[in-house]
Amino acid sequence: GHGIAVFTSGGDSQGMNAAVRAVVRMGIYLGCKVYFIKEGYQGMVDGGENIAEANWAAVSSIIHRGGTVIGSARCMDFKERWGRLKAAENLVKRGITNLVVIGGDGSLTGANLFRVEWSSLLDELLQTGKITNEERQKNKSLHIAGMVGSIDNDFCGTDMTIGTDSALHRIIEAIDAIVSTAYSHQRTFIMEVMGRHCGYLALISGVVTEADYVFIPESPPPTDWARKLCDKLMQASYLAVVAALASEADYVFIPEDPVKTDWKDHLCKKLLQERSSGQRLNIIIVAEGATDREGNPITAEMVKKVVVDELAQDTRITVLGHVQRGGNPSAFDRVLGCRMGAEAVMALMEATDDTEPCVVSLDGNQAVRVPLMECVERTQAVAKAMSEKKFDLAVELRGRS
Ligand code: ADP
Repeated sequence: GHGIAVFTSGGDSQGMNAAVRAVVRMGIYLGCKVYFIKEGYQGMVDGGENIAEANWAAVSSIIHRGGTVIGSARCMDFKERWGRLKAAENLVKRGITNLVVIGGDGSLTGANLFRVEWSSLLDELLQTGKITNEERQKNKSLHIAGMVGSIDNDFCGTDMTIGTDSALHRIIEAIDAIVSTAYSHQRTFIMEVMGRHCGYLALISGVVTEADYVFIPESPPPTDWARKLCDKLMQASYLAVVAALASEADYVFIPEDPVKTDWKDHLCKKLLQERSSGQRLNIIIVAEGATDREGNPITAEMVKKVVVDELAQDTRITVLGHVQRGGNPSAFDRVLGCRMGAEAVMALMEATDDTEPCVVSLDGNQAVRVPLMECVERTQAVAKAMSEKKFDLAVELRGRS
């Protein structure tokens, strides 16, 4: 039958293994030959033992593990045509004409380019005698289905990316732990969380941990704008969070436009107010990519300096770092990986010669197929808007699918 290969590429995230498992088992169930490609595009270029047939048992006991058991890598070779030529030869030799890519927008862009070039790569392999005419004919079209693995929830076209929910769990566990010690000593804690372009993790963890202040890259000024952002970022599956937001919206404070209002004054006022009303601690969450409206970075160190200098509060910083990517995937991410993996295989089986590559996305509570390049282009447009400090445009573009 059909040859399907699955690989993970770019940054890892919790729930990728559930997706790999679903692809393998759904593929086998439908009578396909399924292959793993290890170490992302590097394994595809290098071939050999990096491309191995998968069986039913090979994906046992991985659904609960974080990261990706088949490895992930960044690969410069695949960005060159010669690298893609080698990759194509390795696939044709094994009769693989279906790819399931689990990665970020870079990995999906690479997959799309590979498909666009596919017939010219095959022509070149035929001309140089690397493949036979029969192989050329049998493998003439390449089908692609993608899934987005990322803890940042930074991809356009899906409500949730695989790994985001687990990362949130990790963050709130850490903040809950910090709160008990902060309470005892009446301290202020500044937590740095991941999110270079997307404040989703910072914002949502702020809501569910009662943080006093949140700095996010989108740096929204007035509160109603923040609420609009929240509404957009919130997912149907996050009803509990939406409820928390609705009932305790006062706890999500976002810096005002520092051109008009200095974020430092605003922050200090807020912290003082909390303490004078009897609160024994303060939690401030800073996303990695937080800046002010002029694009100057706002780091945990800077926030600490303000709190210490202005308020003389006993203040500590905790940087969560890669802990957020680690650990076991949550139930949500396991289910998300399972559903998306199965849908990706279905999409490949239904593809005809001119079916465009798709990304399997979550829309509300449904796994759906959306055009891959459209989503990648929108995601890149968001990055561009962010770098140009067009924050409203970025949020607008990100939206919901
Ligand atoms: P992510 O998928 O998480 O966005 P990267 O941007 O690092 O991560 O992409 C992962 C890999 O995908 C790269 O190391 C490279 O092999 C491949 N890739 C990314 N962009 C392209 C591209 N424009 N053309 C070909 N391959 C690409």
